[in-house]
Amino acid sequence: MIREILKMGDPRLLRVARPIDNINDPGLGAIIADMFETMHAAGGVGLAAPQIGIDLRLMIFGFESSPRYPDEPPVPITTILNPWMEMLTEQTEDGWEGCLSVPGMRGMVPRVTRIAYGGLLDDGRAFEREASGFHARIFQHEFDHLNGILYPRRIRDMTRFGFIEALFPDSALAALEASSGGTPAQAPAADPRA
Ligand SMILES: [Zn+2]
Repeated sequence: MIREILKMGDPRLLRVARPIDNINDPGLGAIIADMFETMHAAGGVGLAAPQIGIDLRLMIFGFESSPRYPDEPPVPITTILNPWMEMLTEQTEDGWEGCLSVPGMRGMVPRVTRIAYGGLLDDGRAFEREASGFHARIFQHEFDHLNGILYPRRIRDMTRFGFIEALFPDSALAALEASSGGTPAQAPAADPRA
């Protein structure tokens, strides 16, 4: 079932989400299925449970190939419960980000370039990985959602925050945003909508 995605300004997006106590809760599978359906319908590459109003530390992300991200390598399609993250460097890089909860806009956000992260898979097994670049960016964006942080709060230079059609007036992304109400087929490089 496609769920409503909460928009910036909704206080539920500002909560620090609760850990999942019972991994075997039979309701979790339906929530995860709804999150994937909602993310795909919205053209996103990541979604955190608080974005559909569910106060749990649960996130999904990833894509195998996406015409929207022609320059980006695949990011494993992942569901994580109770995630953790460790920064493996202090080095950051800037990249454009969007968010399904901040529709029509993009901002330039610094993110740490290399991280380790982990948590529980949907079958309850623990796992961990290292990630860099776009993969690390998507994870950090979703992890922020679980702590009540939306990407505009990470922007250092507010002159690099605005509406897609104004920032990228000649891009396919702008045309698609304008005509479809927000399902871009191609985005500027490093542009997660999550
Ligand atoms: Zn987001």
